[in-house]
Amino acid sequence: MAEPKIPQRYGLEELLSIGAAFKRNKLWYAPPTDAEGFVNQAVAQLKTYLNVPYVATTSSGTASIHTALGGGLIPAGSEVILPPITDAGTVFPIIFQNAVPVFADVEADTCMLSAETVEPVITDATSAVIVVHLTGCPARMEPLRELCKARKLVLIEDAAQALGARYPDGRFVGTNSDIGCFSTNDQKHITSGEGGFVVVHDEELYYRCHNFADKYYDRHKRGVKLHGVGQNYRMSDVDGAFLLAQLPKLEAIAARRRRLGLLLNERLDTLEGVITQKVPEGAAPSFFFYLFRLEEALTAKVAAVRDALKTAGFTSTAGGYGEKPLYKFKVFQEKSFFPGGVWPAELVAGRKYDYAGLQLPKAELYQNTAVSFQLHQGYREADIERIYETVRAALSSGG
Ligand SMILES: *Cc1c(COP(=O)(O)O)cnc(C)c1O
Repeated sequence: MAEPKIPQRYGLEELLSIGAAFKRNKLWYAPPTDAEGFVNQAVAQLKTYLNVPYVATTSSGTASIHTALGGGLIPAGSEVILPPITDAGTVFPIIFQNAVPVFADVEADTCMLSAETVEPVITDATSAVIVVHLTGCPARMEPLRELCKARKLVLIEDAAQALGARYPDGRFVGTNSDIGCFSTNDQKHITSGEGGFVVVHDEELYYRCHNFADKYYDRHKRGVKLHGVGQNYRMSDVDGAFLLAQLPKLEAIAARRRRLGLLLNERLDTLEGVITQKVPEGAAPSFFFYLFRLEEALTAKVAAVRDALKTAGFTSTAGGYGEKPLYKFKVFQEKSFFPGGVWPAELVAGRKYDYAGLQLPKAELYQNTAVSFQLHQGYREADIERIYETVRAALSSGG
């Protein structure tokens, strides 16, 4: 039996919405005063849905992270702490903003940062922490918030995988930090083809983020045109119209994935040696994909479990997210970020950084013992049962 295919995710509603955008005869990123602009309509809906005062759209999740760093006034040469198991889009903007990525270890039961793993790598040079809600599982935010507040660090959430997920207090993931970063690329829960947005709570920070993502053109006419540098990370009204038609579909998608994912957690938690991603009590994950690991003593069985799932038809099965921790990739090992052999951030920082010697034991353990596969709204309860049965059988077979 094959892995369930993801159901058709867009169609007539999106076409009609994009058609309506075409009718306006301008797809230009509408100034924020144009309430009929489709980007602005999407922003209005996002603000209501997420219950936040400010949203600025971008052209991708990567652009959202860059916008957070630029808008958040992260100084050149400062250190930004992040987990080593995430999309490259979390880390590359740090490099382009001439800051230094500092990888902190993850928790062995969540594959995410916590206050305990971040605290030891904070230095006088640290300016920010980016916490990634991996798979859409809410990270333990409150202790991280307190830590960042006490050490005066900008706290950024990479919620690209966590659309529709909620913290234990019921608020949406991505709304409990200085800046929440989202992506609406075609892989995510809902999409605008490519795109993204940032969520902020402070008015000045909102204007800086908006301006950073829009070449500092000062669309709000506050007299700050080109007072800073910025990228062109604008979202066009085609994408805005697409996103507007997708937004009403998010809750059902997240709820369906949550039901299936939590059911699988429940089933796999009955197996000796399986460590499912720990969900904070009362939180609601949204399962961008499914991830678990085996206890270290069962490392020899990891390949068998992955193979068994593939043989059972779950061909998306792989190891840990991104294969290996980011610092193990050549570009970090060699620090070959820019042509010419110079890394400006290191020059500004006045010290050398070494990724080749870096070892984060829990991140490496997680990657070595992890099993991951797709989980989406096209799965049925029977598929969950089949996954559970396959894992159970692979673990209990000899060898
Ligand atoms: C998808 C993703 C990004 C990047 O988003 P893009 O829209 O592809 O640039 C960043 N971080 C995480 C955790 C992601 O899953």
